[in-house]
Amino acid sequence: MPTVFKQSYRRCSSIIDCFEVFIQRPSQVTARAQTWSNNTNRRISFVSKAFGVILFNWMVPYENDNLGQDEEYNDSIETALMEEVGMYEDLTSIDIMTDARHGWRKNAKDSSVVAIGEKMHKVLKCEHITKADDFVSQRHEKLGTQRIYQNMSIKQVGKTWSEQLEDKVESVATHFHWAIRNCEQNPKELKDLLINVVEHYKNNHTKCHPDSRCKRDLNYEPKRSTINKPIAEKLLLGVIHKSVIFKSPDHFVLARDTSYVESFNNTMNMFQDKRIVFSDANYNTRACLAVCHWNENVDRGFTSI
Ligand SMILES: [Zn+2]
Repeated sequence: MPTVFKQSYRRCSSIIDCFEVFIQRPSQVTARAQTWSNNTNRRISFVSKAFGVILFNWMVPYENDNLGQDEEYNDSIETALMEEVGMYEDLTSIDIMTDARHGWRKNAKDSSVVAIGEKMHKVLKCEHITKADDFVSQRHEKLGTQRIYQNMSIKQVGKTWSEQLEDKVESVATHFHWAIRNCEQNPKELKDLLINVVEHYKNNHTKCHPDSRCKRDLNYEPKRSTINKPIAEKLLLGVIHKSVIFKSPDHFVLARDTSYVESFNNTMNMFQDKRIVFSDANYNTRACLAVCHWNENVDRGFTSI
């Protein structure tokens, strides 16, 4: 705290500060997030009496705030995508894991759906879905995943999707989970169950589980479109064959490995406090920062003991 304040206002405990100091833009994203200012009129700082440093800031969200984090985010995911593709021999498709996170509670206005590459563990895409896109937040995961797949195929990375598979993104994932739960901890059984997903969508239920609806219900009508194009069948089979679960079923017979997506969600929590409902622009900015931070630091070696 400046001396002049100490002398004149002995009982002053903090100064509400409203000026802006220009500093160099740190290249480290965490540092940048810490120094991130929303401009003079919109930021209130509390300066500590004892140390003369900023204790905490109240940031007042403003619609057009953009200090380059979008650009940084796009750079980051583009590099991450190239790194990920580079890890595969055929350079045409990649394996990803996705998960959704609700903004501040289950039925929140915002949801984020994130796609993380299997090999490099970097975030390749983080979709922000709001109630403006779909008022039912339970459907946000599906919508986000679809957008991610569309985005990837535009980039010519995932030539792995066909229209016939469009409505199956979520249900194939459900099948995977179901297969893990019902394989009785037998890796071979798990593989068979995964392969049978294709047959099920071709409307051939001979090998389906006796408990599943397609077996029990005589008037069973598939909810999703039936696969009849060989290309769609080949693609779906390809997706299954290339999945980590299929390749190393023994790792999954006991549980599903979601540690990366879950720890990414922890990173998100650092940037987007669940107790606060952010404006769309602010939420987006924070998601971009979280992705940049994650991609800079994931799988980094220890820097301290
Ligand atoms: Zn079936």
